[in-house]
Amino acid sequence: MRSALAGIVVAALVAGCTSDRSDVAVVSVASVSPTSTSPSVGGGTTAPEPSSAGTTSPDTEEPATNPTDASGPDTSGPDTTVADSTQLGTTAPNTGDGHSGVGDRLYPDLGNPGLDVAHYAVDVTYQPKSRDLQGHVELSITATADLSDFTLDELDLDVAAVTVNGKKAAFTATDPELHITPSKPIAKGDDFTVAVTYSTTPVTGRSPATDAGWFPTDTGAYTVDEPDGTRMWMPSNDHPTDKATFDVTMHVPKGLTAVANGTMTVHTSGADGETWSWKQDQPMATYLTQVIIGPYAIVDTTGPHGLPLSSVVLTQDKKLMQPFIDDIGPEITYFEQFFGPFPFDNYGIAMADSEPGLAMEEQGRSLFSREDFVSGQLGGEESLLLSHELAHQWFGDAVSPAQWQDIWLNESFATYGQWMWLDHLGELDIADEAQRNLDNRHDGGPPTGKPGIADLFSYDVYDGGAVVLQALRDTVGDTTFFGILQHWAQDNRFEARTSADFIELASKLSGKDLTKFFDDWLYASNLPDSFPN
Ligand SMILES: [Zn+2]
Repeated sequence: MRSALAGIVVAALVAGCTSDRSDVAVVSVASVSPTSTSPSVGGGTTAPEPSSAGTTSPDTEEPATNPTDASGPDTSGPDTTVADSTQLGTTAPNTGDGHSGVGDRLYPDLGNPGLDVAHYAVDVTYQPKSRDLQGHVELSITATADLSDFTLDELDLDVAAVTVNGKKAAFTATDPELHITPSKPIAKGDDFTVAVTYSTTPVTGRSPATDAGWFPTDTGAYTVDEPDGTRMWMPSNDHPTDKATFDVTMHVPKGLTAVANGTMTVHTSGADGETWSWKQDQPMATYLTQVIIGPYAIVDTTGPHGLPLSSVVLTQDKKLMQPFIDDIGPEITYFEQFFGPFPFDNYGIAMADSEPGLAMEEQGRSLFSREDFVSGQLGGEESLLLSHELAHQWFGDAVSPAQWQDIWLNESFATYGQWMWLDHLGELDIADEAQRNLDNRHDGGPPTGKPGIADLFSYDVYDGGAVVLQALRDTVGDTTFFGILQHWAQDNRFEARTSADFIELASKLSGKDLTKFFDDWLYASNLPDSFPN
């Protein structure tokens, strides 16, 4: 996710940047010893080398903060890192008996440790005029505990019927949980199906960290589900630790297009409207689910090494948005040198008919607001947004945070990728940018690695957090640094991991105990004044 405000700051930075491009250094990531049977990480790469000067920062603006982060970056100390469980419910994290909560510190109600969902088959009928959503979802699940009853996550859904293995089940829907009691208990290890029929008139504004869920527009809708919006339009095991494949079918009024993640499998058009089906057959966290409905065109092109690209633009925007579609290939080629092969079977961009300030790394197709690209010109702000969300496909989508408090694994990394791309374009100097943001960090702010719920999308997690990666790069060197990033994305593809897992990998590949380094940079409220080298 990326706020438009951050883009504006960078645009100002780009306008004022007069420094020369930094030199490039050639590093060989392949020289890093692999630690597992992961796919090859490729050969030589060209890395943007940080300038050692770092003294000509042209910009002294205040750091960007997400507009939804009302507290600002310096009003919350480390004491705010305990979740307020009264915000969305009081169910405590549990120990795996089939009740709610996988134990997320910031979102204790999300997920269910007794369920391993393999697949969601979703069927949604949506009427933009009335905003009426009728839904049916069938979940294919493996029980990871004995279950006499269990819960799914839901918020504001009117549940009409539930079946388990095709048999009617008792249920109560009490926000934020749908409690289900099957007619027969389910044993640990059993595979079973749950089908839920429901309806809702989607509303947003229920998430404590940011606005999330199903956003109606005049002609359709789109979803932005991070971190907990999916449960507002679909009963689900709504936590990134439980990834699954998806089939999504949508029925919409005649003339409208409906898009979800992955590849289109069915489109039929009749007197009563249009039906669109999409298949996402690579495991995906629920928060990366995409729905876009409206008068859109689907633009299919081909990316590097034959990668299918499928982008979505308003029908009248096809020409206007083509420069951004054309930019996808070069960006992927650039990032693959540093991050490893693109992690999914397809990619694209979707330019939604929305208010500006929308940017979300939905799996396999990043979502933006057309308003942020309406110039049709590929400038610094547009490049920032496009590269940030693309970098997330490796960092956030392929490997997701196992706790929402680990969100720096998404946002600091995507911000660092965005810096790399802008450095590559000559629009900033990555060392200057890192130093400027280190200087902008406020002592006493939330540690990058331990934000409170109000700081989940704050400056210290984005640009203020990317300085942690610059410091790591300075500490371990370019070759090891990019080796760590590649192994992180590839070895953990389709999984969710913790910050502790990242620290362990970084220590292993660098041959150094980096515990103190991460204590000083990731978990500290007051960072060192200067980078290690
Ligand atoms: Zn982001």
